[in-house]
Amino acid sequence: MSTGDYLLALDQGTTSSRAILFDRHGVARASAQRELPQIFPGPGLVEHDAGQIWRDTLATAQAALAESGVGAEQIAGIGIANQRETTVIWRRDTSRPIHNAIVWQDRRTAAHCERLRQCGADKMIQARTGLIVDPYFSATKISWLLDNVAGARTAAEAGDLAFGTIDSWLLWNLTGGASHATDASNASRTMLFDIHRQCWDEELCQLFDIPMALLPEVRDCAADFGHTAKDLFAVPIAIAGMAGDQQAATVGQACFAPGMIKATYGTGCFVMLNTGDEAVASQNRMLTTVAYRLEGHTTYALEGSIFVAGAAMQWLRDGLELIDAAPESEALASGLDSTNGVIMVPAFTGLGAPYWDAEARGAILGLTRDSGIAQIVRAGLEAVCYQSRDLLLAMQADAKSATAFGAGAGLSLDVLRVDGGMVENDWLMQFLSDILEATVDRPAVTETTALGAAYLAGLQTGVFPSLDAITAQWRGQASFTPGMAAEMRDRLYAAWQAAVARVRTFA
Ligand code: ADP
Repeated sequence: MSTGDYLLALDQGTTSSRAILFDRHGVARASAQRELPQIFPGPGLVEHDAGQIWRDTLATAQAALAESGVGAEQIAGIGIANQRETTVIWRRDTSRPIHNAIVWQDRRTAAHCERLRQCGADKMIQARTGLIVDPYFSATKISWLLDNVAGARTAAEAGDLAFGTIDSWLLWNLTGGASHATDASNASRTMLFDIHRQCWDEELCQLFDIPMALLPEVRDCAADFGHTAKDLFAVPIAIAGMAGDQQAATVGQACFAPGMIKATYGTGCFVMLNTGDEAVASQNRMLTTVAYRLEGHTTYALEGSIFVAGAAMQWLRDGLELIDAAPESEALASGLDSTNGVIMVPAFTGLGAPYWDAEARGAILGLTRDSGIAQIVRAGLEAVCYQSRDLLLAMQADAKSATAFGAGAGLSLDVLRVDGGMVENDWLMQFLSDILEATVDRPAVTETTALGAAYLAGLQTGVFPSLDAITAQWRGQASFTPGMAAEMRDRLYAAWQAAVARVRTFA
């Protein structure tokens, strides 16, 4: 058995599998990564090879250990953070998946979701799960697999199959089939889990026609999930932490008090607001979700997302070929006083919260003869900031009714903790602070997802005695404070809102 104080984080994301070894100070000592091929069998369909996810995860874990020179016996525990909602069903006897994993982005169950809305089930689903009916979540993907893979339903009813999101699938393989479990944060994204009672919901399982024998046991985010099977590492290692990627980032950012917010700016942007003990029901189509569950105590969050953040930079680079690399955007934007009225609405795949307009499409408005590459690139960065403001205003509106923030007092939005690839861009961080009229804090460790998984494993194994010990470790690297005149901010934001309105009427 391992007894040391290193922590091994497995960060299994949509496009890559990564392993990072952290020491007890939260410093990364070694890492390894493999890109994950995307499988697109048809329009709107996105799959992953679940077997490859497992093999890559194991290979990166072993590679990170080898690189570090740290022995398996020096590792206190493994923490898993994962792409959420992605659905795997496998045979219990052979551990073989019955189909490729259906990825969260996959839209094949859109018609099923539409039927659920038409029969009015969406209200009950939202009340129990905190989620908005959408193909994104696991439940309709499970139904699809049972209905479309030959023999699956009969095998599921006989108890021969197991369902898991990627966390459970990795755990099953890590433990050689000894442990079929998940954690409350991942369970809260399946659309089968009652976030108030903290258990699988029988009625929801009936509604989606899913035998409960398929489902994993739900544990805390820091828990005894079992040990790695013989032969994987020199000695068996405890698996002690687990959370969905955005929840893990919330832990990695030490957002443990109600009102604390983290925003991850990668391909898209995910914002999580800690609402403490209270599952705040959203009036603005935010998701209510489990932030983390520790020692049986659930902490909730409101979550909102922006579909296109860094993806706009990718489009400017690969689609329009206006820049060679995303970091060039910083010099281009900071070389201008303004975009001269150019606004980009990057609604390439519709608009998310608070608009939820699937039909909206992107546009660049306000072009004149002197508009050039720099103005368009800067408009792409500014759009990320305006959409962040859209989200945070919606969260503030939701929080008004929450006792978590003092009845009627509402949520004051003072500080935002940021991470993800885009936050290296100092100009963007300053503009974000200006538009939000809030301090934007960038941590020293921006691998917050993996760090959060390591922290959870560290809580369980005693490397960290408490959340306070983790809070004490959070280190800021840079802080951006608002400096823009209110009149200017209001004018820019009003122009953004007008542009969004134009885009929506066009669609
Ligand atoms: P993901 O985890 O979603 O793959 P990352 O967190 O690795 O994404 O961030 C990568 C994204 O950030 C890319 O979309 C890229 O265009 C964008 N990006 C990276 N560096 C910068 C930068 N300096 N300025 C603006 N955007 C950037």
